[in-house]
Amino acid sequence: MSFAVPAEFTSRVRLEEPLSRHTSWHVGGPADVFFMPRDRADLIAFLEELPTDVPLLWLGLGSNMLVRDGGVRGVVISTRDALTALERREERGVYAEAGVPCAKLARACARWDLGPAEFFTGIPGTVGGALAMNAGAFQGETWRQVRWVETVDRHGVVRERDADQFHVSYRHVEAPEEGEWFLAATFHFAGGSSDEATRALLEKRRQTQPIGEWNCGSVFTNPPGDHAARLIESAGLKGLRVGGAVVSDRHANFIINEGEASARDIETLIETVQREVEQRHGARLVPECRIVGEAA
Ligand SMILES: Cc1cc2nc3c(=O)[nH]c(=O)nc-3n(C[C@H](O)[C@H](O)[C@H](O)COP(=O)(O)OP(=O)(O)OC[C@H]3O[C@@H](n4cnc5c(N)ncnc54)[C@H](O)[C@@H]3O)c2cc1C
Repeated sequence: MSFAVPAEFTSRVRLEEPLSRHTSWHVGGPADVFFMPRDRADLIAFLEELPTDVPLLWLGLGSNMLVRDGGVRGVVISTRDALTALERREERGVYAEAGVPCAKLARACARWDLGPAEFFTGIPGTVGGALAMNAGAFQGETWRQVRWVETVDRHGVVRERDADQFHVSYRHVEAPEEGEWFLAATFHFAGGSSDEATRALLEKRRQTQPIGEWNCGSVFTNPPGDHAARLIESAGLKGLRVGGAVVSDRHANFIINEGEASARDIETLIETVQREVEQRHGARLVPECRIVGEAA
């Protein structure tokens, strides 16, 4: 590690923290420095003190991240258990900090009879991750519900931004400025909630996805007018394996770590699937998961 952690935080950061402990694929080498702030004020104090040339990576629940085996240089900030405020604001608004799990947001909305928020139920990430990815499922999409967000930059400066300042599309979000991360969002839900829709959604996931196995959900985005899973399956790639990583038999757009996979295995399998699908169908699949860090 070639930088100093601000003195008042040295006893609280973890050095060389294996990121395999913090990703749903259970792979990933160490972060030089891993910081779990106590709350928003603690996070801002840390950012104010941290030298501005130290690379930063934000991590929610790591459910859409492939961290390479060599790990991540610089600081990883984990919002999990840190930014957890969740409250109803006015009749149809909900304020949620970035570390709130999407499932918890969905349950609160169900309690308050606010929707559509059912789609958040089965997304195993945080609000921050959902904002960064424009996570969505079954016709629902995060940013359709966002009114404004709070961001923080690397100096610890907090800003409020209206949703319309962001360019948002399918699993893609462009911020008006580089170098800002999400602290919180206020959502607006025009309708009521439906227990039946939540149950149907969870049942659909149970039937079609490899629940309980180590994966990151859909590996590739769907190309316009088609489905990545269909292209992969029709190229005969279900069950294709590299080391401990395998294309799921249940859902072709999922790659499973059977227990011993390295990030290298998974990345090689991703590249192999891309190549095979391109040869067979002429379409280049684009990874939805974020691939970060250094090779071992
Ligand atoms: C079983 C399974 C099912 C899934 N189903 C779906 C689905 O139906 N629909 C869907 O869209 N996704 C799905 N996913 C993928 C994933 O859950 C979502 O993309 C989720 O929004 C990621 O949230 P996270 O907190 O885990 O983010 P992480 O994986 O930790 O991070 C993802 C990206 O967001 C960035 N990020 C995280 N927090 C912040 C922040 N506060 N500010 C700025 N950037 C931040 C990270 O730097 C990274 O680039 C699934 C994953 C799994 C494992």
